[in-house]
Amino acid sequence: MNILVINTGSSSLKYQLFDMAGPTVLASGLVERIGESRAKLMHKKRPGQDGEGALTREEAMPDHGAAMRAVITLLTDPEHGVIKDTSEINAVGHRVVHGGEHFHASTLVDADVMDAIRACVPLAPLHNPANLIGLETAQALFPGVPQVAVFDTAFHQTMPPKAYLYALPYELYTELNVRRYGFHGTSHRFVAGEAARMLGKAPEDTNLITVHLGNGSSICAVKGGKSVDTSLGMTPLAGVIMGTRSGDIDPAIIFYLAERKGYSLGEIDDILNKKSGLKGICGMNDMRDIHKAVAEGDVQARLALDMFGYRNRKYIGSYMAVLGRVDAIVFTAGIGENDPVSRELSCRGLTALGVELDHERNQSPERGARDIGAAGSQVRVMVIPTNEELEIARQTGEVLRAR
Ligand code: AMP
Repeated sequence: MNILVINTGSSSLKYQLFDMAGPTVLASGLVERIGESRAKLMHKKRPGQDGEGALTREEAMPDHGAAMRAVITLLTDPEHGVIKDTSEINAVGHRVVHGGEHFHASTLVDADVMDAIRACVPLAPLHNPANLIGLETAQALFPGVPQVAVFDTAFHQTMPPKAYLYALPYELYTELNVRRYGFHGTSHRFVAGEAARMLGKAPEDTNLITVHLGNGSSICAVKGGKSVDTSLGMTPLAGVIMGTRSGDIDPAIIFYLAERKGYSLGEIDDILNKKSGLKGICGMNDMRDIHKAVAEGDVQARLALDMFGYRNRKYIGSYMAVLGRVDAIVFTAGIGENDPVSRELSCRGLTALGVELDHERNQSPERGARDIGAAGSQVRVMVIPTNEELEIARQTGEVLRAR
């Protein structure tokens, strides 16, 4: 079975075609700057084979339909392609950012599902409209091929009310759906499943803290394989310190800024989402640049790094309290997978809670899923590369099988 995974942004389209027998990736790519005069298309055929069948080109793509048609042409092209025609695509799996309270699991897309995704637009005004365009385009270009929506929020729908409700007037929840939803669910679900396998335990018996540290970051408490709390909130602005997003702040700061600086709500939104986080503290949001600056004695970069580690540690500690017993802490995503310093700072001082890193294993440049806990560490510490596309493909396959 071949499954095409699509992740549509407002001006981008990311794709991976899986042969689920392996599973193996047959081809993958990215179209950027859709709608601009020179969109950029990067395509790779069977990644890992010396760039054979790879291609980068720029051309006008007025909309997502044009981008998707270009992708289909490439996938079926004799030089760059991997299939004869689109009949070899058995299903399309779509990443959809917000499923609100409506979607607890991945689902086959029909008109009602499209309406329900549309109803979630106010909760994710930047993401869901783009995801809807991806769905509509694929429906038009692959008539009769099952389309499956895989939601970033669905994994967290198992959180209990005490974890997802804010202490606000209750009618704001009942009338306007104001609550914590959480995001990165596909990643948390994927690494939680892999961790249980590595521990040799059934997911139902496994308690984990999954730590997704990338440009956007979130931490999740997973009890018996289910999300019971997570750091991102109603929107992806809450929780730990991110590349350009503040994470948790005292909400009264917003009124103070409006009063003292005369900022509009839009300006404050821009500050909190785009000018805060690591960037707000040291002017840089790429962790590699921050390490370089720290090595050169940049005190602001050092401060940003310390704040980042400290906030992660606070969340990990609080989720240890939530879970009671923790089998493993699992680091993933760009920073979580590649940065031993961030992992060390995030676990520092947790020895009394049974968390001990093996410093050599933590520093090792080894890739792939691995255990970096000290031999005697009561709580295992792991690094597991995330693979959201594979998880979307798997979920799509499961939805098809359950039909
Ligand atoms: P993501 O959003 O998951 O792609 O993660 C992006 C973040 O990962 C950026 O802050 C990068 O600086 C960081 N990152 C990627 N590779 C490394 C690395 N080798 N060392 C430290 N940080 C890295």
